[in-house]
Amino acid sequence: MAFDYDSENIFAKILRGEIPNRTVYENEHALAFEDIRPQAPVHVLVIPKGPYMSLDHFAQEASPEEQAGFFAAVGEVCRKVDVSHGFRAIANARLHGVQDVPHFHLHIIGGAQLGRMLP
Ligand code: 5GP
Repeated sequence: MAFDYDSENIFAKILRGEIPNRTVYENEHALAFEDIRPQAPVHVLVIPKGPYMSLDHFAQEASPEEQAGFFAAVGEVCRKVDVSHGFRAIANARLHGVQDVPHFHLHIIGGAQLGRMLP
């Protein structure tokens, strides 16, 4: 499918410095920051710096360097925050995935026992 990235989404504004954020980690290809409405003691969003609207867009079109930089950032976040007993990583994608912000982001949620989630 053709992906249509909207550069006025709120995470694009965060990347441009137009909206403040509480940065947890940053590298050349990714930014990680605290979710404004945390669902658990740890709730960090990791986003690529490139214009990718969803996980499938990022997986299909980002370069190997961008993808490696993104996952390096995920690794650094997991070192920095307290997820020693585990965590959940969630990527809501597009309409059926109920994605609110159309810039790919991975939720890293933990710091407490989470409920079971199907599947
Ligand atoms: P989605 O439903 O798209 O997977 O999740 C979007 C997430 O972004 C939500 O958890 C929401 O709390 C978070 N969020 C929305 N606006 C902002 C913002 O301006 N700053 C931060 N840090 N998080 C935001």
